Amino acid sequence: MKPSERDVVILGLGPAGLQAAVHAARRKMSVLLMGSIQKSSLFTAHIENYFSLFNISGEEMLQRGLAQVQHFGAEILEENVIAIDPEGSRFRIRSEGGSFIDAFSLILATGSKRNKLGVPGEKAFLGKGVSYCVDCDGLFFRGADVCVTGNESAAVDGALTLVKTAGHVHLVCEKVAVAETLHKELQASPVIIHENSRIKEIYGNAAVEGVRLTDGTQLPVEGVFIEQGAKGVLELALKLGIQLDDEMKYIQTSKQQETSVPGIFAAGDICGMPWQMAKAVGEGCVAGIGAAMWAKNQRRKAG
Ligand SMILES: Cc1cc2nc3c(=O)[nH]c(=O)nc-3n(C[C@H](O)[C@H](O)[C@H](O)COP(=O)(O)OP(=O)(O)OC[C@H]3O[C@@H](n4cnc5c(N)ncnc54)[C@H](O)[C@@H]3O)c2cc1C
Repeated sequence: MKPSERDVVILGLGPAGLQAAVHAARRKMSVLLMGSIQKSSLFTAHIENYFSLFNISGEEMLQRGLAQVQHFGAEILEENVIAIDPEGSRFRIRSEGGSFIDAFSLILATGSKRNKLGVPGEKAFLGKGVSYCVDCDGLFFRGADVCVTGNESAAVDGALTLVKTAGHVHLVCEKVAVAETLHKELQASPVIIHENSRIKEIYGNAAVEGVRLTDGTQLPVEGVFIEQGAKGVLELALKLGIQLDDEMKYIQTSKQQETSVPGIFAAGDICGMPWQMAKAVGEGCVAGIGAAMWAKNQRRKAG
């Protein structure tokens, strides 16, 4: 399938991504926003501390922001990005629904969620078999049996990555909730799917030896990958060689919100504390302007 083309693609439909889209779209760029407002941290918040607004629901702000960016011509694709690869002077994005989009510049505005499971053994075995990042730690489990837990694209894509190098790969989830293309890829793979199930306990001695599920099943595995939610942008960033902070928690940027990879910008919670909407919006504005300028120059060079 031939990829579609955009000047700027923004990963994230929270305040950082939406504000970035306002600035990029008003500069007459073709802008595509990906993600979902329901997955923004702001969706469940009630805002009292944002300049001039002291009693408004986050959901209402997001709905208004969505209408605003569409008014300025930005398009929305309510899917998660599962891969980004450099492609000449552009970046090629793959969505969980199987779309390919080429863009001159990217803005990473995917928030900072690192969802924990909250089960016995999770904390004790962190780094001893428990991991939150398949792309960072997957190769440590070459040939070993592992399990991945989560319902969405991060878990499914993680399991599909692990089957290439690990032994048996189990996917533990309540329900596989991904776009059809990715779902079909999963069904055609050797991943062993345990639906209607959750991990109840991670056990072992010096390192992980297995997990117990809520339905009583015991899986003898050496690795447990907790991949809840969308494909984490840190995993995507690591693959592209984007510089993270010393603790590998946040993306490092310049004051212009540029990452270490030219053409890729980042904004919002993914760039660090404080996790506040005002910061996300400010950084989104700077990233949106920067990404639009970058795309304009690249477009001119490409003729
Ligand atoms: C309960 C609660 C109360 C809060 N109260 C306040 C408050 O009173 N004041 C305040 O200033 N802040 C508050 N916050 C914090 C505020 O909501 C965040 O700082 C803000 O939402 C961060 O914006 P963001 O755009 O960086 O990320 P988010 O708003 O978290 O948006 C992340 C976006 O990225 C998308 N995404 C993730 N992965 C992918 C992927 N692989 N591909 C495509 N898209 C992806 C998601 O779908 C989502 O749209 C609160 C947060 C919570 C949870």
